[in-house]
Amino acid sequence: MNVYDSRIIAQILSENGYKETADKKNADVIIVNTCSVREHAEQRAIGRIGELQDLRKENPGILIGVVGCMAQNLGNSIKGADFVVGPSGYRKLPQIIVQSLESRVQSSKKKLTTHNSQSCIEQTDELYSDIFPESKDGITAFVSVMRGCDNFCSYCIVPYVRGQARSRPPEDILKEIELLSSKGIKKITLLGQSVNEYSYNGVNFPHLLRLIDGTGVPWINFTTSHPKNMSQELIDAIRDGEKICEWLHLPMQSGANEILKKMGRGYTKEKYLDWIHKTRKSIPEVSITTDILVGFPGESEKNFNETLEVIKEVRFDSAYMFKYSERPHTKAYNMKPKVPEEMRIERLEELINIQNKITREKNSELIGTTQEVLVLGKSKRGNSLYGRTRQNKVVLFNGKASPGDFIKVKIKELRGWTPYGELLSKKEPLITRINTNLPETEHLEKLQGENVA
Ligand code: SAH
Ligand code: SF4
Repeated sequence: MNVYDSRIIAQILSENGYKETADKKNADVIIVNTCSVREHAEQRAIGRIGELQDLRKENPGILIGVVGCMAQNLGNSIKGADFVVGPSGYRKLPQIIVQSLESRVQSSKKKLTTHNSQSCIEQTDELYSDIFPESKDGITAFVSVMRGCDNFCSYCIVPYVRGQARSRPPEDILKEIELLSSKGIKKITLLGQSVNEYSYNGVNFPHLLRLIDGTGVPWINFTTSHPKNMSQELIDAIRDGEKICEWLHLPMQSGANEILKKMGRGYTKEKYLDWIHKTRKSIPEVSITTDILVGFPGESEKNFNETLEVIKEVRFDSAYMFKYSERPHTKAYNMKPKVPEEMRIERLEELINIQNKITREKNSELIGTTQEVLVLGKSKRGNSLYGRTRQNKVVLFNGKASPGDFIKVKIKELRGWTPYGELLSKKEPLITRINTNLPETEHLEKLQGENVA
């Protein structure tokens, strides 16, 4: 979400005559976009802002601004910031930058060593709906369909820093996607804190997906879905959508009903498992990923084991796993008893070990299959290429291909836990469903028989 917001900021500033630079030493203005979902994220941002202060020695005119959730949460108390702007204030950035410069000139006239930082942290129903940011890599792009959240899960700061949930008009979303498509973007990821809660003038999320399926972008992903807003209608929209990829990110948070209740999540373990079952039944090749939060106040050993049991039962394709972090404003902040920090770490480690083993096993199921892959670039070590499958899995391969190509890769082995294979052929985007669970030959026949691209 912040990557997308940074593109919105870049768009607003470029319309006001600013140019992006990849080298911070060339910058006149540096904007640090921050997250405050966990304390660790805030500490890292504060560390980064501290490091940037060195640039002031060489370039005393530089402006350093802090934006995003931490700006909203901590306001003017952030040290080293010339301006502070919350997630709803980005349209004012050009004006705030000018005011910051003026304030600096004023202070230097008065021979003050510091100047007052400018801020804009009022919350509005801002949607940036008319701003169409550019993709950074020219291949993939995010598109926000709604902003804010009012679920108030008891551990979560998001509703306090990003404001009320509001959905964007479908016409604007479609316009943005068509524009990206005309620029050759291959994959779009729709964003929302609880994306399947989208609702605008009678258009719900499954309906929106069906509309987007009619645009020119070959692959469409979306995140994050909230289990309490799951519906068969959504599963059907994924199943029927030719461009909608077979990937569902469905944060479970905990496998213990007692904890889910205290978290205020609005579903039980049984209801969650039912949605997993229904999704897999309708879309056998779907990959399901999740978020898990351990060490929530009051989480007993028994509760934690219940989470591990569900992890083993569901066998998620992968998971983001976190230890609970106290956040101001939230209900859980005052909940007791707190799980001691060492125990949070221990539980997180145990969970990660179990899930990582499952992720590896799930990935090894791909060995011997042929996958449709969108090429994204060179791997970190540089000796192979990488891309993603429709199930959003990273795949490494060798062979000749360019970023943005759709290719077929025969998976041979795992490297670490990443599937590695060989390029079979370049492929136009398939717009029919591929059942990756089918045996190899049948799978290829299906690919050839049904490719209507
Ligand atoms: N809107 C998404 C989540 C956004 S935050 C949803 O409802 O699923 C992303 C993840 O951060 C959450 O799923 C949760 O697992 C984690 N998280 C949120 N608040 C946290 C906290 N206080 N401590 C640790 N992790 C947290
Ligand atoms: Fe936070 Fe819950 Fe909203 Fe997700 S749904 S952003 S966890 S309050």
